[in-house]
Amino acid sequence: MSRNKICTKCHIEKDEFLFSFRNKVKDIRHKSCKMCQAVTQKVYAAKNKELIAEKRKKYRAKRYEIDSQWKARAMMKFRKDNPESVRRASIKYDEAHREQKREYSVVYSAEYRELHKDRVNA
Ligand SMILES: [Zn+2]
Repeated sequence: MSRNKICTKCHIEKDEFLFSFRNKVKDIRHKSCKMCQAVTQKVYAAKNKELIAEKRKKYRAKRYEIDSQWKARAMMKFRKDNPESVRRASIKYDEAHREQKREYSVVYSAEYRELHKDRVNA
């Protein structure tokens, strides 16, 4: 059983589940529908892009000031919580640099042989 509600923004009558909860316990829903809220959110974000970025930056700076080890600890926690993704990342790194390593060793050994021609051939 679903009730219908008229959105105060688009004035379209919609199923109640298309309105997100404002208070789930009291069964109170927002006056505007989810679509209108998403649009409002998007418009707000676009209008306040700099403000939001600034806020985020300030938050990070503050967080860092309070706890300079925060970043390191967050990284450590990530590693602990995501051993699989850390392992995969390191494999990816190895794969990406394998070619480079091989080239380096080829160049190096060629150079080595050139430099120590007498000894190598002896
Ligand atoms: Zn609406």
